[in-house]
Amino acid sequence: LVSRKAKSDNTIVDINGEKIGDGNQRFIMGPCAVESYEQVKAVALAMKDQGLTMMRGGAYKPRTSPYDFQGLGEEGLKILRDVANETGMSVISEILTPHDVEKALDYVDVIQVGARNMQNFELLKTVGKVQKPVLLKRGLSATIEEFINAAEYIISEGNDQIILCERGIRTYEKATRNTLDISAVPILKKETHLPVVVDVTHSTGRKDLLLPAAKAALAIGADAIMAEVHPDPAVALSDSAQQMNIPEFNEFMNQLSPYRSES
Ligand code: PEP
Ligand code: MN
Repeated sequence: LVSRKAKSDNTIVDINGEKIGDGNQRFIMGPCAVESYEQVKAVALAMKDQGLTMMRGGAYKPRTSPYDFQGLGEEGLKILRDVANETGMSVISEILTPHDVEKALDYVDVIQVGARNMQNFELLKTVGKVQKPVLLKRGLSATIEEFINAAEYIISEGNDQIILCERGIRTYEKATRNTLDISAVPILKKETHLPVVVDVTHSTGRKDLLLPAAKAALAIGADAIMAEVHPDPAVALSDSAQQMNIPEFNEFMNQLSPYRSES
């Protein structure tokens, strides 16, 4: 059902009026993890100044180590919703278990399925049964075929509001956190009718590569760019090395504006 053969026109996912996949290249920004109301509010206000409305932020964090910050949980979702309502943002946040999906519907505008859960088939089936857009991230070592099949799990349950997100894959290369598979973007757009987002933060894991990676993603036809922004990355509870601060975020947006297609 996600195949181009099943449907030739592009799927456009409407997030409170911002349409992903309509030919305008958009931005999904926000902190790695929700840490406090003040932290999320600072990012939302900076985004608003840039004319952006799609705010990401993790309340449930799938951390590699069990001793790392696991997120604020439902309290984090509440903070996201409150700030979003005050600033005109939409909320994109990761849900880790089928059990939390229904609760999340009250808080989020888009459910994110993270890389570590791309083949959590029960989660995929659960998000396939709800009426909420889903941002599905490519698995850490998933082939494009496996990624497309994960999207198929969602759509086969009835939910066709799916956004695919290339976030880098594991290779032998250690210079970057993951290897951004930039050619996955046109392949996914050719093989499926779904919009494709490129997460430059988790794919590169390097602040100095966010801008060139985003330019490449826009040039190759990504429908949106995802990147992480934190008011004070040095004290961030996760991904401290790779989040932009607010001046860096403003510079990032200014530098990209000539490359961004708007129809
Ligand atoms: C995230 O976007 O917050 C995240 C954890 O990314 P990924 O699932 O791609 O590792
Ligand atoms: Mn992160």
